[in-house]
Amino acid sequence: MAEPLKLKAKSASPGIASGPAFLAEEPKAASAPGTGGGYGALEKAIDISIGELERLADGADAESRDIIDFQIEVLRDPTIAEATGARMKADENVVFAWVATLDAYIGELEAADEEQMRARAIDILDIKNRVLGALAGTPVADFPPGSVFVGKDMEPSRFLAHDWSKGGGIALFAGSAAGHVALLARAKSVPMVVGTGRFSAADGDSVAVDGDGGAVILEAGGMLIPPLAPAGDIKTESGELRTADGVPILLSININDPAEIDALDPATTGVGLMRSEFSVTSIADAANEERQLAIYRRVLEQAGERPVIIRMLDIGGDKPLAGLEDLPALEPGLRGIRLLLARPEIARVQARALLRAAVFGKLSVMLPMVTFPDEIDRMRELFREEAEKLGRRSLLHRMPPIGMMVEVPSAALMLDTFGSAAFFSFGTNDLTQYLTASVRDGNEADAGKAAPAVLRLIEQAVELAGGKPVSICGDMAGDPRYLPGLLAAGLRHFSVAPARRRAIRSAIVGLNADGTRAAGE
Ligand code: PEP
Ligand code: MG
Repeated sequence: MAEPLKLKAKSASPGIASGPAFLAEEPKAASAPGTGGGYGALEKAIDISIGELERLADGADAESRDIIDFQIEVLRDPTIAEATGARMKADENVVFAWVATLDAYIGELEAADEEQMRARAIDILDIKNRVLGALAGTPVADFPPGSVFVGKDMEPSRFLAHDWSKGGGIALFAGSAAGHVALLARAKSVPMVVGTGRFSAADGDSVAVDGDGGAVILEAGGMLIPPLAPAGDIKTESGELRTADGVPILLSININDPAEIDALDPATTGVGLMRSEFSVTSIADAANEERQLAIYRRVLEQAGERPVIIRMLDIGGDKPLAGLEDLPALEPGLRGIRLLLARPEIARVQARALLRAAVFGKLSVMLPMVTFPDEIDRMRELFREEAEKLGRRSLLHRMPPIGMMVEVPSAALMLDTFGSAAFFSFGTNDLTQYLTASVRDGNEADAGKAAPAVLRLIEQAVELAGGKPVSICGDMAGDPRYLPGLLAAGLRHFSVAPARRRAIRSAIVGLNADGTRAAGE
């Protein structure tokens, strides 16, 4: 059996603890929608948060009460309310005004010279997320008693809400021995180490925290996160699948829920489309960088070496988002990238979450409903700006390749002008709708009649792609009736719903790469 791995760390609270790992960035339950009501909604969420903190303070020891009082004081601080109010007057939605105000505060603390001050940043992050949780209706998630909390940092309220009587410990990749959680851990005799650096462990893996010697010990299987190969090449040898005449074909899956990543078996190339809008169900979720990061990280870690394409929020139009209607100056009809560029505060949060998630796997980012090349350039610039901010905050991140959905007919016709897209993926659901003046999920017979026009457009567009990676993730990819036409159009990478994989695999092996039926079929 392999030797356990011992990582050096800094002791923050003495004692030895062991137990199953709890990975902090597990996604929380889907949020309840609705953050309308402007400043009133924020005031209510702050009141709820203060109430929660007061309940936590009941029966708490003196140290805990001090920390809770500090958080309540910040929540009652009129300068924070004023700064949030000023941002709202400048046309920001209440949730984003709150996030921007608190982020500015966190940024100041993180840049402080004194460690004591820097260690306060996690308290403000804690407050920010508690209020976001109250706005969205999601409480701060607890973790199983007796487990070892593993994460970048820990919010004091998580510590306070947790039952430590069953044992357990804390191992933080970053963190501070001068922070509130360390202080609480010492007061409650919870072994804790900080500054372990990133390591990978699965939920439930056995982990020991040595708060005396300053170490974390991982059972065999845990490892330091190795540097990844440069991202960008979305080809992989896994999922070896060939047409009857021997041409390799890639078969990926589309996922709408992070849990569907479980369907990624070794014979599948990767995730060809993750529709992120299904994990972000309210404006408060859209403003919650940590929550999004947790979701993307989980998917990437589970995919391991296999590529994952996460599509930025395709919201607006026929994909509503609760609370979107409350955003000021939002024109009707804005959808996908146009909406993201019109409300960059939404895009910036998601860009930061994606940049940070990119270090955990082989991520590519895909932009929805792209119509004009400058939309990609503007989004790239936004990613660059956010990457710079993360760099200033010393947060690990990596710039992922940025590609686009080809689902607007005018973009398909002009694909050679999208020089800054790293890759293309055909979205035949919208492509068919907009090409044929039909409705999505319309009549089957009409979709069949429309197919030749859609296939011709795809064939021309594949030519115009100029050798860049091209795939298809619309529903046509999962329908064996269209496979001959799609192969003939030059497509070699298909991303389908997990349930469609089997049918597509068996159809592919019976066809030649030009779409003709193989001899004997
Ligand atoms: C498409 O339009 O084909 C597509 C994959 O995107 P969605 O179905 O999410 O609109
Ligand atoms: Mg679409």
